Amino acid sequence: ISILRRRVMKDDVFGGYCGCRILDRLRLDGKVAYVTGGGQGIGRAFAHALGEAGAKVAIVDLMLRKAEAVAYELLLKGIKSIAIAADVSKPEDVQRILETIVDRWGTVHIACNNAGVNMNSASEDTSLEEWDKTFSINLRVLFLCCQAAGRIMLNQGYGKIINTASMASLIVPHPQKQLAYNASKAGVVKLTQTLGTEWIDRGVRVNCISPGIVDTALIHSEDLKPLLQRWLTDIPAGKLAQVTDLQAAAVYLASEASDYMTGHNLVIEGGQSLW
Ligand code: NAD
Repeated sequence: ISILRRRVMKDDVFGGYCGCRILDRLRLDGKVAYVTGGGQGIGRAFAHALGEAGAKVAIVDLMLRKAEAVAYELLLKGIKSIAIAADVSKPEDVQRILETIVDRWGTVHIACNNAGVNMNSASEDTSLEEWDKTFSINLRVLFLCCQAAGRIMLNQGYGKIINTASMASLIVPHPQKQLAYNASKAGVVKLTQTLGTEWIDRGVRVNCISPGIVDTALIHSEDLKPLLQRWLTDIPAGKLAQVTDLQAAAVYLASEASDYMTGHNLVIEGGQSLW
C-alpha cells in the first residue's frame, strides 16, 4: 500500500496529480478584482461571489450610490471592498479605475467587465445613436477595459479577465428586436477569443459568460415587459435565470481551477440556445 500511495501522490503519474483539493483551487484569497456594473443585477452578484471566494473587490458603477451600497454589503461580510463611480465608456474613467485600484491594493488580478446596456427597436427603426451607444457600452468599453487591465496583468504574468456577453451572441432570441445588442454581444465573444488566445502564453486568460434571460432590472424595462411571457415558453428550464445561477461561473473563471481555459464562451441559459 505504501508503494502504491507513493506512486499515486507523485506529480508525474500519467494523467497528472489528482489529489487536487479542488475547493482550494477555487479560492481567490489575496486576489484583487473589479466588477463594472457592480452596482446592481449580475455585476452585484459577481462582486458578492468573488468576495466570498476571498478576493478584494472594487465595485465600479455609473451610479456612486449603488456602488457604495454594494461595497457596504461586502464590507458587512468582512470582504475588503471599495466603490468607484465611473463611466466605463470614457477612456479617462477606465484609466482612473485602474489607478485607484492599484493605488489601494497594488495591482489587479481579476477584471470582470460586465456593464452593458440593451435597447430595443425594430431593425429598420434603429437609429445610429442607438447603434453607437450600444456598441460603445457593450463592446468599445470591453476593448478599453481589457487593454488597460491586460497591460497590468501581462506585466505581472498573471490575470483573469471575465467579460459578460449574452446568449444573444449565439442565437437570435425570438421575438426580440435587438439588432445592435445581438451584434455587439457577438463582438464580445470574438474579442474574448482573440485576446484569450493571444495572451494565454503570458499568463492572462480571457473568457466570457453568456447568460440567457436573467431576472434583473435590464429585462423589466417598459419595452421588454410584453416579451416576458413569450420568453418563458422559449426556455427549456421553464423559468428565468436568477443572478445566483451565474455566480459559480464567475468564481470558476477567476480561479486557478480554470487555468487551462481561455477564449471560452460559457453559456448559462437553461437550454434556451438549444431549442
Ligand atoms: P442591469 O441594468 O441590471 O445593471 C447594469 C449596471 O451597469 C447598472 O448598475 C448600471 O448603472 C451599470 N452601467 C451601465 N452603463 C455603465 C457605464 N457606462 N459605466 C459604468 N456602469 C454602467 O443589467 P444586468 O442585467 O445586470 O446586466 C449586466 C450585463 O449582463 C450586461 O452586459 C448585459 O448585457 C448582460 N446580460 C444580461 C442579461 C439579462 O437578461 N439581464 C442577459 C444576458 C446578458
